[in-house]
Amino acid sequence: MKQYEFWFVVGSQFLYGQDVLDTVAARAEEMAEALSKVLPYPLVYKVTAKTNKEISDVVKEANYRDECAGIITWCHTFSPSKMWIDGLRDLQKPWCHLATQYNREIPNDEIDMDFMNLNQAAHGDREHGFMGARLRKPRKVIAGFWQDRCVQERLAKWQRVCMGVIASREMKVMRFGDNMREVAVTEGDKVETQIKLGWQVNTWAVGDLVKEMKAVTEAEVDALYEEYISQYDVNTDNLAAIRYQAREEIAMKKMMDREGCKAFSNTFQDLYGMQQLPGLASQHLMSLGYGYGGEGDWKVSAMTAILKSMGEGGNGASGFMEDYTYHLVEGQEYSLGAHMLEVCPSLAADKPRIETHHLGIGMNEKDPARLVFEGKAGKGIVASLIDMGGRLRLIVQDIEAVKPIMPMPNLPVARVMWRALPNLTTGVECWITAGGAHHTVLSYDVDAEMLRDWARIMDIEFVHIGADTTPEKLEEELLVKDLVWKLK
Ligand code: MN
Repeated sequence: MKQYEFWFVVGSQFLYGQDVLDTVAARAEEMAEALSKVLPYPLVYKVTAKTNKEISDVVKEANYRDECAGIITWCHTFSPSKMWIDGLRDLQKPWCHLATQYNREIPNDEIDMDFMNLNQAAHGDREHGFMGARLRKPRKVIAGFWQDRCVQERLAKWQRVCMGVIASREMKVMRFGDNMREVAVTEGDKVETQIKLGWQVNTWAVGDLVKEMKAVTEAEVDALYEEYISQYDVNTDNLAAIRYQAREEIAMKKMMDREGCKAFSNTFQDLYGMQQLPGLASQHLMSLGYGYGGEGDWKVSAMTAILKSMGEGGNGASGFMEDYTYHLVEGQEYSLGAHMLEVCPSLAADKPRIETHHLGIGMNEKDPARLVFEGKAGKGIVASLIDMGGRLRLIVQDIEAVKPIMPMPNLPVARVMWRALPNLTTGVECWITAGGAHHTVLSYDVDAEMLRDWARIMDIEFVHIGADTTPEKLEEELLVKDLVWKLK
């Protein structure tokens, strides 16, 4: 596991004398140390920059150092921004402009022109902001007092977004078989995706997986079987099906780890030589942080792994999801999401149980084992990445998940029930208008602001459907964005 850090680069100039520069440096160091204690990744104070060369040098180093996941800039005093042009132009790491100041209050008795010259972030950060805008440089702007919890939480979330940027640029997806025949939304331009997002998406034969499965030893199966039994309740007599899933998981994990893949897809239409569609196997792999997409959906698979990497401890509560069916009773309008088998247990409200059931779809010779559970209640999002032809569009919708309002005893899969914002029917109208897929990543710990930040860094289109969205406003937004992205 690599250790990542963020760099704190503070702007100033020589005009105010050495004492002021010493004070700025000491305070910047103090702020970086204090913030490092509350942020998920350390903030390392690097330099009080006063010249073009100092800024260019720190940017060159940031670009080169793998451990540097992004830079955070702030102007304690005024920092003339022409000296920032070369550095910011060349910056390849994510950038956050923290518009803060060292002191919270204006000190009534103490304030004089010396105080004003030292504490003029309101002035300096505007000059800094102009250059960001003038260069059309993608950046996150966070304003507020650096000790305030909401500022720190937003910085923390932005750091997590940068983990998603690293995960994306390192992403390798292992595809077992092609996309489901005739399906449109799971297709996409893999070359464009590699250029924009860094994903290496390649295919491996199902026959190679079957060969790998045959080479798995009984001892390996025993060990993973014990792990399943310790983590989940068993609600089936068909222990052979569970062992078969363990064999599938071990083989898939070996192949992925060998190639450095963090995500995979498969399709029920191509299980040649396999007795079961991987269910429990895929679910348990997702719980370990691997991305998954059904029906050959490599886009949602990679996005699942990326959203997981943005969550708590680098493996958050995010999973592959599919919109299935609605409850359209007035006042109780909900979507029911699930998949044939593969819903990540990180979404579960309680301990999942292993069950085996017949699966009519696909070429399953035997009943596949899968985890069955209800999803957690709470605020979340669903996200869908689609290929618009010439560009990628990321659509994010705010949702409120609820405890499923009925037990559905004959539904043999994990399920999540939610209300889309602004309300179910308007939310569905907006989603369909924007072209969002039936496959999504559902997340409880990545929010729309984080994905807006991620899309800005990756330079792809972003559409957010939330409490204030109306179909009229959305249509206009999509029309304008369509023109803009054709010109870009
Ligand atoms: Mn599906």
